[in-house]
Amino acid sequence: VKSGSKNDFLIFNKTIENQSIERRLLESAMRTAIKENQFYLEYQPKVNLQTNKIIGMEALVRWHHPDLGTISPGKFIPLAEETGLIVPLGEWILKESCKQTKKWHDIGYTDITVSVNVSVRQLEDPLFIDKVKNVLMETKLNPEWLEIEVTESILADVENIVKILREIRQLGIQISLDDFGTGYSSLSYIKNLPIDILKIDQSFVKDIHQNEESSAIVQAILKIADSIGLQVIAEGIELQDHVLKLSKDGCRFGQGYFFSRPLKVDAFEQFMDRLLVT
Ligand code: C2E
Ligand code: CA
Ligand code: CA
Repeated sequence: VKSGSKNDFLIFNKTIENQSIERRLLESAMRTAIKENQFYLEYQPKVNLQTNKIIGMEALVRWHHPDLGTISPGKFIPLAEETGLIVPLGEWILKESCKQTKKWHDIGYTDITVSVNVSVRQLEDPLFIDKVKNVLMETKLNPEWLEIEVTESILADVENIVKILREIRQLGIQISLDDFGTGYSSLSYIKNLPIDILKIDQSFVKDIHQNEESSAIVQAILKIADSIGLQVIAEGIELQDHVLKLSKDGCRFGQGYFFSRPLKVDAFEQFMDRLLVT
């Protein structure tokens, strides 16, 4: 099609129309999915880079649609956020991951923390704190084993969100700042946020072993985090070289395909069993 032709316009219109139809279909499919239990969680191990011991896991939501197959969170989470469906979905995710973690503690997999991704939209829900308290009460998980991951998108509504994060922390829950370094927060800004952990974004880890700039950025993050008393975890570790470089720079914790992909419950237990015997 020649650029600027009449057809271009038609194609353009059609694409927009298709997109909004696709979105509406996806939205209604998501409502059904919540009711019909098509969502499930996978858990990705977080490890101590020195000892190789597992310190916890990140819960990651998955959607298995009966006809469409598995739909990635990268596709449906943004839509769930726009439509507000993330609120009921997020509540289910929080409850399910706390329930599973308590179960693991009870059957002998002790000392593991669960990290749950929480969207700004959920934090803005006036009932959020009550929902968290309820989940803790119902599942009997000790809040010190729960961690909430938020992104720098909280900065868009920072005053409001900081209040909520403080309340969450008062319950004994830890807060980590996900995808750190990709957003707009300057290093000096983070000292004013009620957070416990910085999660170094995968984009810096990817080439840390061969790129001076990434390496320098990671070193700066580690240094400042240390001086203001924040813990650091690196994500997206795929290579032994990543582990070596990060350890050398003083990063103690990590997560990534090098250790394990996100796993379903059974496979996660097998992963923990393998670590116990070695
Ligand atoms: P995220 O929170 O940054 O999660 C990390 C993503 O990186 C996950 O993708 C994980 O599978 C992937 N990953 C882990 N290790 C590696 C690695 O070594 N290399 C590479 N290339 N990738 C790795 P996933 O599960 O597709 O999730 C994508 C995003 O969707 C998440 O990014 C998060 O923003 C969102 N998400 C996932 N689950 C939830 C959830 O339960 N609630 C909310 N609100 N958002 C979620
Ligand atoms: Ca995360
Ligand atoms: Ca991340």
